[in-house]
Amino acid sequence: MTRPLNLPPEHPVRVRIAPSPTGNLHVGTARTALFNYMFAKRHNGQFILRIEDTDLSRSKPEYKDNIFKSLQEIGLNWDEGPDIGGDYGPYKQSERLPVYKTWAEKLIAADFAYYSYETQAELDAAREKAQAEKRPNIYNGACRDPEIRKTLSQQPDETGQPRKPSLRFKIPKAAGTLTFKDLVRGDVSFDTALLGDFVIMKSDGTPSYNFAVVVDDITMAISHIIRGEDHISNTPRQILLYNAFETPLPQFAHVGMILASDRSKLSKRHGAVAVSDYIAQGYLPESFCNFMALMGWSPPDGEEVAALSHFIAQFSLERITHSPAVFEMDKLNFLNGKRIRTMAVPELLLLVQPYLTQFDLTHYPNERLLQILEAVREPLTRLNEFPDAVSYFFGRAIAIEATLIDEVLTGETPHQVLTAFQLEFMPTAAFDNQALLTDQLKAFTKQLKPIKVKTIMWAIRAALTGRVHGAELSTILFILGKETVAHRLNAALALCLPTEKTTS
Ligand code: GLU
Repeated sequence: MTRPLNLPPEHPVRVRIAPSPTGNLHVGTARTALFNYMFAKRHNGQFILRIEDTDLSRSKPEYKDNIFKSLQEIGLNWDEGPDIGGDYGPYKQSERLPVYKTWAEKLIAADFAYYSYETQAELDAAREKAQAEKRPNIYNGACRDPEIRKTLSQQPDETGQPRKPSLRFKIPKAAGTLTFKDLVRGDVSFDTALLGDFVIMKSDGTPSYNFAVVVDDITMAISHIIRGEDHISNTPRQILLYNAFETPLPQFAHVGMILASDRSKLSKRHGAVAVSDYIAQGYLPESFCNFMALMGWSPPDGEEVAALSHFIAQFSLERITHSPAVFEMDKLNFLNGKRIRTMAVPELLLLVQPYLTQFDLTHYPNERLLQILEAVREPLTRLNEFPDAVSYFFGRAIAIEATLIDEVLTGETPHQVLTAFQLEFMPTAAFDNQALLTDQLKAFTKQLKPIKVKTIMWAIRAALTGRVHGAELSTILFILGKETVAHRLNAALALCLPTEKTTS
């Protein structure tokens, strides 16, 4: 069969993401959405969202809402759709049933479709027989024959009810091998004899996936279909429909799947798969998009950490790989951590604040909060790590776990360190001058020789923060202030008995 005509190159770029609301927005779908979005923006085209919700039993409104919200949160706003009170609603297939009906009638009129009357039980039996005989389950085309069609249509089904027909596409006998050019995978060929006349309108009056997609892509003037490679086997059926409608083909680009780091299909058992879960953990939309853009695509300038606008300017479908991409958590953490470390602290504060509701921040001026974030952000990778990292800066007292008291604060040496800190460091410490405070702390540790610096630091840290790691000690002192430091020190000294640790 000759290759059907493709859309002319001057056709404006119009792409779409077409999720089914049968789950929250999956990372794989979001990545495909991002590629569509980047392609649209690169070519001044339109990015369209279409909700494929004709499977009423599996579609749920909460999933649809999650898809909208997640796309918006990561900045992938769609460009058009039906007007919903001044805003764009996305297209929803469930609102387009009359369109599919009209287009189905066109195929009947052109003798490209016919009603088939087999019941589900009969089709199931045929499938089981094919399986037992180890041959592909292809519809036998019985109802192409008007006589058989008529006879079957007059027989009741197994429950004595009239049979409900479904509408099938009549695959042209001459279709033979069908080849199409995929922009990612090159030429792809299928033997149409293996397809069988497939259902386009189900017996309940809803369109099948392949039919609805084609009608929508034609009526929405979609120029490029960029989607996951799991849809490649649907493409020949869809091309046959385009041909039957005598409509030029869009360009196809099938993108490799996303695998988990163990090279198996990314699924819930590997952790979060919904975009909203990543956002809730405090992955920033910018770094999440940066990360997704690199799953299956690479920028020609090799600059992997960049703003989306930088990627868009260089985006092309040719640089999408057809091999699967791997979801590398370390890379996501690196990108997010880098962003957390380098963004303006006031901006960071706005983002972190919703995570800090457990603290009463009313007594802490903005300036103090900024100092706290600056002090702790270096090693952090996600916004939801902030509450733990900042907790010791809030409140007057601090809880110290028994094991820490036992391991770090119990014994002659820590007692000596904290006593010296109280009597020698505190009276002259310059709590209003961080640089001086740092020098004083250094001098203090020297003065306590031969006690190791680590022992000194751990004792003071444990006393003041209830942990042995965290922000720079001089920064902690500076932010906490003299009064709180003195209070926590007293409390720790009371806990820290000068008895040697028993090493049994
Ligand atoms: N509704 C399909 C899905 O969720 C998308 C189909 C397509 O992009 O053609 O995978």
